[in-house]
Amino acid sequence: TPAAQWVESWPDDVGADRVRQAFAAAYPADDVDEDGTDAPEVRVYAAPGRVNVIGEHTDYNAGLCLPIALPHRTYVALRPRTDSVVRLASAQEPGAAWTGRLEDVAPGAVTGWAAYVAGVAWALGQHLEATGGSTETIRGFDAVVDSCVPYGAGLSSSAALECSVAVGIDDVAGLGLAATDAGRATLAAAAIRAENEVAGAPTGGMDQSASLRCAPGHALLLDCRPGLDPVDAVEQIPFDLAAEGLALLVIDTRAEHALVDGQYAQRRATCEAAAATLGLANLRELADSVAGAAAATGDPAAREAAFADALGAALDRLPDDVSRRRVRHVVTEIARTQDLVALLRAGRASDVGPLMDASHASLRDDYEVSALELDVAVEAAREAGALGARMTGGGFGGSAIALVPAERASAVADAVAGAFARAGLAAPGFLLAVPSAPAGAC
Ligand code: ADP
Ligand code: MG
Repeated sequence: TPAAQWVESWPDDVGADRVRQAFAAAYPADDVDEDGTDAPEVRVYAAPGRVNVIGEHTDYNAGLCLPIALPHRTYVALRPRTDSVVRLASAQEPGAAWTGRLEDVAPGAVTGWAAYVAGVAWALGQHLEATGGSTETIRGFDAVVDSCVPYGAGLSSSAALECSVAVGIDDVAGLGLAATDAGRATLAAAAIRAENEVAGAPTGGMDQSASLRCAPGHALLLDCRPGLDPVDAVEQIPFDLAAEGLALLVIDTRAEHALVDGQYAQRRATCEAAAATLGLANLRELADSVAGAAAATGDPAAREAAFADALGAALDRLPDDVSRRRVRHVVTEIARTQDLVALLRAGRASDVGPLMDASHASLRDDYEVSALELDVAVEAAREAGALGARMTGGGFGGSAIALVPAERASAVADAVAGAFARAGLAAPGFLLAVPSAPAGAC
């Protein structure tokens, strides 16, 4: 049996050293601005990837999700310029350095990885303009990026990149947004615009909110109802795994499947059509009314029956089996997220396993977004002693998570690696998801 391949996080000083050295190599010290002024100091910033504990495919249904920040971070060494030139290089994209001017950055104007970086500068400029400031406040910069966040694994390397740059620009431009949670919500909104509008990737807001607003030892309960004040939309939920003798194992299946974007758009459209059929603005309204009907009854068994009755009555009004199953996933997933948060608040983290298992079954059977690799990962983890396991992220590949007694983490990882080998699948990667710090200066 093959041994599990672990993807270690970097201590901040290691990550910072790496990008400082790469910066010095990319932009030699005698390299100065167009106008000949001496270059100012190089500063380093970092932002984490994230993993979602529960609440999948609920963000675009105005639902709830519960991400934590990973100890795995993206580092950027950044030196401001006095002109509007932006020069970028990344250790993950050798041979794809980029140079451009801020005034040329706009939706559709930048291709490749640089769109995630230049897009943040553009979006912050748009924010300043919309709030009575000037886009000129954002100046050019030279930057080098390096990261230990797995790429394209559903662990949000894209948001880690955007958010490291967002706190960097915030600092050198003196915006002061990173100093408050409200300001961080503004930085997250800029990173979301960069990803959606400049990089052209349709995503909800969970990744950027997690990278900028999570707290160590906590999970971030994010309420995705539109129109909520961003400060009221998040709550810090204690999630001190180590104190409870637990570990959250992330299994990067390294599986990539085609047609993912089309599937995502289809799920979204089905949910929107179902809400419209029910005369609701979104499926969160259905989830809230079903939960309300259940809460009005007495003991747990009666509550469960009332929940099923209220949900069943709504599903009966939908025209086809596919939309009934999609809606059932969304409504039950929002309820599972609320139940899991209640357990964490009660100091019962070791009891959340069955909710994770139920989430996986719902995503696999009702929402149909799992994949062979994800099913193999969660089944092998459970057999090896995980308390619960589920796919995480959009699905069709990406990563799974397993809640394990801390002392079982490496045995569970080895068991999953063995199951992949026996199934003829490529070796997965393993991370320990300790709830970690948000984006900031190093
Ligand atoms: P995920 O966010 O799940 O890792 P995405 O497809 O959303 O996957 O984002 C991956 C993309 O983000 C990469 O293809 C690249 O364009 C960009 N990216 C992320 N991290 C880096 C990095 N360290 N250097 C350069 N580009 C990066
Ligand atoms: Mg991403």
